[in-house]
Amino acid sequence: MKITNVNVIVTAPGRNYVLVKVETDQAGLYGWGDATLNGRELAVVALLQDHLAPLLIGRDAGRIEDIWQSIFRGTYWRGGPVMMTALAGIDLALWDIKGKAAGLPVYSLLGGPTRAAALAYRHCDGRDVQEIADNIRAAQAEGFRVFRAQIDVPGSMAFPDPTWVDRTTYSVPFEDAPYLRAIPRMFEALRRELGDEPEILHDVHERLTPIQASLLAAALEPYHPFFLEDPIRPEHKESMRLVRQNSRVPLAMGELFSHRWECLPLITEQLIDYVRVDIAHIGGITEARKIAAIAEAYHVQMAFHGAPDTAPIAHAANVHVDMAIPNFGVQESSIFPPETAEVFTGTPYFENGSLKVTDAPGLGTDVDERAAARFPYRPQEYLPTLRRADGSVQDW
Ligand SMILES: [Mg+2]
Repeated sequence: MKITNVNVIVTAPGRNYVLVKVETDQAGLYGWGDATLNGRELAVVALLQDHLAPLLIGRDAGRIEDIWQSIFRGTYWRGGPVMMTALAGIDLALWDIKGKAAGLPVYSLLGGPTRAAALAYRHCDGRDVQEIADNIRAAQAEGFRVFRAQIDVPGSMAFPDPTWVDRTTYSVPFEDAPYLRAIPRMFEALRRELGDEPEILHDVHERLTPIQASLLAAALEPYHPFFLEDPIRPEHKESMRLVRQNSRVPLAMGELFSHRWECLPLITEQLIDYVRVDIAHIGGITEARKIAAIAEAYHVQMAFHGAPDTAPIAHAANVHVDMAIPNFGVQESSIFPPETAEVFTGTPYFENGSLKVTDAPGLGTDVDERAAARFPYRPQEYLPTLRRADGSVQDW
């Protein structure tokens, strides 16, 4: 089962996605991977096309671990989000091929299902508490039990203006003081409105200093959040010790990490409760299951990143791993732009607030390449920069 071709396509059915098709010498046997790195798409395309694809031609598609190791350790330059996203694109395609060759879904190759479905959380953000509560009630009616709540704060917009024109210079304001006052009030009001039952989490997006994060986590204790996500910046993870020492709120982190070693101190010191790595940015399923195994030993659960900034193929990979690992916590879920349905088939689906995949061989997803060609790449579709009132840059 030799690799004969590696084709990279970029398509934008509502958002930019980088997709990797690995073809083999067995007729009709190919796999699809997702190598989307939001805002840096073409850097990954160049790495794949110019540097990695030529290394793969003629290799045995079934030797996933060896290919992974030879790219990660064998090419001298290693790690970083661009490399690990490219590697994830290849890795997902190879698992897809292995499943198709065996006639088994990927979760079966990983040891078989440990659960019936992956508990999902839905984004129920709003401009005010009433809108969030309405969104949570609507999601509850669909069967969801876990919800993310983000709120617009005066001077600290949660929601950029969707009509912005120049995406290279667009910025939105953020001020820490009003934000720190608003979030405990939001939780208090949501508990008053919805009671104790709904599981509600909040994403800080790395915007606080360690002491601010500690104060916020402590202030949220009475409202028992499901978890507090990314309260501090990822560069100095050890600051999470301060947050941990000062609160008993479950903590989550990891969507900006590229590999298992970045997760290590947080897991081994039990500074977090949920690992939030993104399967498309950490080298794929091969790395994800190792991180899950390390976390399992320390009673830390997995909550893979699941924003719509990666393609439905990565979301399918999330659910296959969720189904197989024993320490699955919760799966972030997304509603994709409707155009994605024209490009992708066999994507994960919701049932009673959980995500499921079919038992189709491989990852179960396929790509209509002709449809994908109808949605050309959208250049420079960057996230806005956050700036303080004095004009200085704030963490995204
Ligand atoms: Mg996040």
